[in-house]
Formats: sequence, C-alpha cells, structure tokens
Amino acid sequence: MKKNQDIDLKHVFVPNFNPIANPHINRPLIVTNGKGIKIQDENGDWWTDAHSSYMSVNIGYGRTEMAEVATKESLKLNLYPPQSIGLPTINLANKLVEISPGKMSKVFFTSSGSEANETAIKLTKSYFDRTGETNRVKIVSRRGSYHGATMALSPLGHEILEPDQTIFPQFPTNVYVPLPIPSNCEFGATSPDECTQKCIEATKKTILSNNPDTIAAFIADLIPTRPGAAIPGEGYWEQIREICNEFGIILIVDEIVTAFGRTGKMFALEHWNISPDILTLAKGITSSYSPLAATLISEKIANQFNPPNKFFKHVFTSSGNPVGSALALKNIEIIEKENLVENSRDLGNYFKSELESLKLNHKLIKHVRGLGMLLALEFYSPQEIEKYSSKANQIETIFNKYLYENKLLLKLGNNILGIGPSLSITKNEIDEIVLKIKKCISETEKELHIAK
Ligand code: PLP
Repeated sequence: MKKNQDIDLKHVFVPNFNPIANPHINRPLIVTNGKGIKIQDENGDWWTDAHSSYMSVNIGYGRTEMAEVATKESLKLNLYPPQSIGLPTINLANKLVEISPGKMSKVFFTSSGSEANETAIKLTKSYFDRTGETNRVKIVSRRGSYHGATMALSPLGHEILEPDQTIFPQFPTNVYVPLPIPSNCEFGATSPDECTQKCIEATKKTILSNNPDTIAAFIADLIPTRPGAAIPGEGYWEQIREICNEFGIILIVDEIVTAFGRTGKMFALEHWNISPDILTLAKGITSSYSPLAATLISEKIANQFNPPNKFFKHVFTSSGNPVGSALALKNIEIIEKENLVENSRDLGNYFKSELESLKLNHKLIKHVRGLGMLLALEFYSPQEIEKYSSKANQIETIFNKYLYENKLLLKLGNNILGIGPSLSITKNEIDEIVLKIKKCISETEKELHIAK
C-alpha cells in the first residue's frame, strides 16, 4: 500500500467530507479494517467508532462468519437474471414477514435506504392508481427528519434544517408537519403530553388545510436521529395512525436506522402499538456487510399487486441480490443468537445513565435522549452560551477537533451529538467512550472559559 500522504484523493468524492467545517482535518481518514467497535487507519492507529458508521454496523466489524457466507454465496451465484429469484432472497422475505411487527405481507428488496423509501413512495402512488384515487399525490413528512439522498427524498423533512433550494426545489406536493421533541417542543410545550397534543393538533390542521383527499402518504421515522433521538410523548404514534386511517393516507414507517435491535427492541415499532402500511428497512438488515434494503407492504396494499395483470413495474439491477440476502439472514441469526437486542436495551440504559451523570458535571450539555443504542446529547447552542463565552460560535469546531484528537468517531452538528455504536458493545467499551466524551467536553469548556 502507498504511504500516507502519497495517496491521491483528487479523483474520489468522500461523501459528506466538508473541509471547511473540519479545519482540524487535513484530509479524510483512510481506513483499512475494523474489529468490533474499532476501525484501523492507514497508519495502523485504532479509532473508536461510537456511531457504527451511520448507525449501521449492528453486529460489529470484522465478523468471520459474515465473510464465510459472502464467499460461499458468491461462489454459487452473485446475481439473479431478469424475472427470476433464488432461495436466499425467498427465505429472507419470509423471515422479515415473520419477525416484523404488524401485518406485513410482501417484500421488495433494494440496495439502499433511499431506494427503499423511493420504492415505498412509488408503491403508494401505484397503489392509488389501482384503487382509482389518482388525485392522491402529496407526501407528508415531519420537519427535521431525514429519509434519503435522492432528488425526491432529499426535500422530505428538510424544510427547516437544510432548505437547500438551489439543488432541491420544493415539490409543491410536499407537505410538512411538526416533529415532536418533548424536551425542545417547537410549540413551547412544557411536558411530553402537551407536546404530543400540540403536534397532533398542528398535524391535523395542516392535513385538513391541504385537502386530505389529495394526500397519498405520511412518511416518518419513529425515533429520528437528526434532531437527536427524539422520542415522542405517549400516544403520539397511535394518534398519527388514527389520522392516517381517518383520511385514507398510507403510513410509511421508516425503520432504516431503528430496526434490528438499535432501540432495544428488534423493531422500534414494538415500543408502540401501531401497524404501518409500508415499512422500510436497511442498514442493520445486513449490518452493512452488503448494501441491502427492503420495503415491506401490508396485505391491503399487496392485494393490489397480486393479480398477474397488475404487476409492479419497478426494478433495480441488484434487487434482492443473493449474496446480500444470505448475509442478511446470517446477520439476523447473529443478532438473535447473541441476544444483541437485549444487549442494546440493557447496556443502552447503562450508557444513557452514564451520559446523564456527565450532564450533571458539564455546562455544555442541555439534554440526554435516546433508547437502546440510539442515543444523543444535545449541547447548548452558540446563542445560548454566547453570554458566557466570546468563542461560543466555535463550539462545534472546537469539540469536533478534540473528538478527532482522541480518535473517537463522532461528530457534533446542529448542537446534536448522535451516539450509536454496534449493539455488540461491552460495558468496558462504553466506559471508554464516556471517558473520551468527558475529556473532549472538559477541554472544550476550558477553551470556551465556561467550565463548571
Ligand atoms: N431513512 C433514515 C431514517 C436514515 O437515517 C437514512 C440514512 O441515514 C435513510 C433513510 C437513507 O438510507 P441510505 O443512506 O442507505 O440511502
């Protein structure tokens, strides 16, 4: 391998690498391998990945069982020819229908979460085309959530946080409703119940003022990561389900981050008593040992696609790739056998309580939120601390510099530090991460002159 600085990066986009926001990083990390929750770089240094690469590597890095399955399956068959399917994918569809909550009936496989959500929206429109409700074209999403990087998905949820109108002109068919963050409710509510009530009222009002007969789908992630593991108050999801039922709107639940144990249950849906019409899965489905995602549809929707003359015209070359499907099956088997869902729940509780202790001793932390291994610290915003520090507007740059120096793969953005390690994490590894975060916060507070 070429040495360090000799590797030329000029021909490759490094996704999301923003040198202006990260002045302390000369160039992106070049990583070579991983084990458990650690990643090794080109110099042989180990980094702690407390975010499991976009909260994706649920079973941890470097699993030999997964490499063995990939080898075995690739030697048999690496892709299905058109109009055919194979056992790994059939078995995976059956397994997903068996373990997913609600009444899911049929699965369409894709390669990424974005493709799974695109497929969900296309399926919704195709469904209404079949039922004769062709006027249903609008998509409702919640301000501040994220559903993918394609042209159709990028504007969903992004209205307030990143209104990049130059690249993503707002589609007139996008409708936005509030996303409840009980500790930070946009309506100034002082309790989770009040926040739920205000958000539900506003949601209903927006839907009514947008002619409900023209709305196709409501897409939502159950515990969104962007605003920092925002868990709604009791009854919120049940009321959203009721609103969708009342107005004939398809409810698309995006469990791309939350499924496969991330929140201490196999599916985050199990925290509530609702059944979606469409459910999208990715990331933890293979722990990113292969790019694979899935769109599950309920029987009601599937019925519109079952007659042979009503086939769904939609394909990606790698839909349900056999190697990816076999890896997903092995990955789910590992999650089940090693009780990783329970580990996520129990050690998630421990992790959260350790973060809450940090909050007691540090001025920078405003809130601790989360469930299982989907956690977040909300920092006070630069506006909130500018009266104590003249360097308040540099807080993100300073804190991210210390994370980098401590070889901790996390990033503070929009006052949120999202934390989501592999579910196979141990108590000692949590202690190590908490210690590193504590060190970074202390150094930042010192530099800002606001230590407690
Ligand atoms: N939905 C949610 C909630 C996500 O967090 C993401 C990615 O982070 C996506 C969809 C898009 O998934 P992908 O990046 O695999 O396209």
